[in-house]
Amino acid sequence: MDEKLQPVRDAVLKRNPGEKEFIQAVDEVLESLGPVVSRRPELLDASVIERICEPERQIIFRVPWVDDAGKVQINRGFRVEFNSALGPYKGGLRFHPSVYLGIIKFLGFEQIFKNSLTGMPIGGGKGGSDFSPAGRSDEEVMRFCQSFMTELYRHIGEYTDVPAGDIGVGGREIGYLFGQYKRITNRYESGVLTGKGLSWGGSLVRTEATGYGTVMFVQDMLASRNDTLDGKTVSVSGSGNVAIYATELAQRFGANVVTASDSSGYVHDPKGIDLELLKQIKDVERGRINDYVERRGGSAKFIPSGKGSVWEVSADVALPCATQNELHGKDAKALLSNGVVAVAEGANMPTTAEATRLFQNADVLFAPGKAANAGGVATSALEMQQNASRDSWGFDYTYDRLREIMRGIHDNCAASAEDYGLPGNYVAGANISGFMKVADAMLAQGVI
Ligand code: NDP
Repeated sequence: MDEKLQPVRDAVLKRNPGEKEFIQAVDEVLESLGPVVSRRPELLDASVIERICEPERQIIFRVPWVDDAGKVQINRGFRVEFNSALGPYKGGLRFHPSVYLGIIKFLGFEQIFKNSLTGMPIGGGKGGSDFSPAGRSDEEVMRFCQSFMTELYRHIGEYTDVPAGDIGVGGREIGYLFGQYKRITNRYESGVLTGKGLSWGGSLVRTEATGYGTVMFVQDMLASRNDTLDGKTVSVSGSGNVAIYATELAQRFGANVVTASDSSGYVHDPKGIDLELLKQIKDVERGRINDYVERRGGSAKFIPSGKGSVWEVSADVALPCATQNELHGKDAKALLSNGVVAVAEGANMPTTAEATRLFQNADVLFAPGKAANAGGVATSALEMQQNASRDSWGFDYTYDRLREIMRGIHDNCAASAEDYGLPGNYVAGANISGFMKVADAMLAQGVI
């Protein structure tokens, strides 16, 4: 890290003890900004980087609700409104037992730069709870969402803060959250949440956008080396929203996707994942990944977690689409020894710093999540545009807008990396390009 940035990093570490994912995300950005502060020293004079590392507002609240057995349960809710230089705070809600302040802050921090990269007028934020919807009845999930929104509603709004989904928060949860917001406020404010159902203000392509966008980014990276996805073997982790739609578009582009996973283990299906079966099990039945192997038969195998890693499977392209820090140094070595040529983060920060370095040193095309998975939030911004104009666009039109946005992100990252003497380094390109726009807006808006 550049020595001028070391004191900033030390201060962040001191102020945020125990928040290791947040520190990891800050480190990754600060590692890229050395050449920027050398060229633009006024950013240090105005403490822009210190300010970006400190959320504008952090809300932590109790979420009491009653389970099906009549017992009162207590969870903790969070909303971190990180940066509003470019627009209202925008970022998803995560419901997962691992959620604590450090996870929400890492996600909110990443979101600032991701949202900037989309070119849309949206600031960065994130929220969630340590509640786990897994194994809960629909009624329990509804009661939890209603209680969560009973506090959250006072902090959000279409011009203030616009949440969406993330791990554990899909169409069902957004529906319950929106219903409670409407009930409390007596306002049909479509623009307060994104990821809504199609008949009540949602956008076509939003469901597919994150996974599709990740694959579009891979397509553009490969094209920079006169290569394509056609005929490539692809390994994907996860089997949620991002993984399923990354698999779908990769298959459409001629790739053979051979893996899927969840927290219980992974599936290796050398003939190619049967996506309709995977969707039925994960989306409709909310089942586990080994159900896939039982029903698929043939050469498909289930490897339980702890008995192997999805990254041991030989692949040309790897798409980590599950969760943070799921691809470690040893996994990167396994992928490299099997000849991987491109890795794109569908999830947020799935690759550890060590694994990222290994890929970059081996000249593997590596796309960081804040660029590669920005298609989801970009399409959320398209949903906001449709809500504001009370319009709804067709699938092909929205898909083409997403395609154009992803190409723009790819080209901007590549150009920024080149401009700062780091050609082909998409991590530096994404950090610099995302940061500059926010920093310039903050300078223009004064010390706030
Ligand atoms: P989902 O809840 O739909 O799916 C998450 C998937 O990852 C599931 O298969 C889940 O398995 C697995 N997973 C989650 N946590 C763990 C864990 N600790 N260990 C192993 N597997 C785990 O979430 P999404 O697909 O929406 O999100 C996936 C990633 O993409 C996250 O990093 C998210 O932040 C990121 N992202 C999502 C966007 C979106 O639009 N949805 C936008 C941009 C980024 P299990 O069911 O067993 O827990």
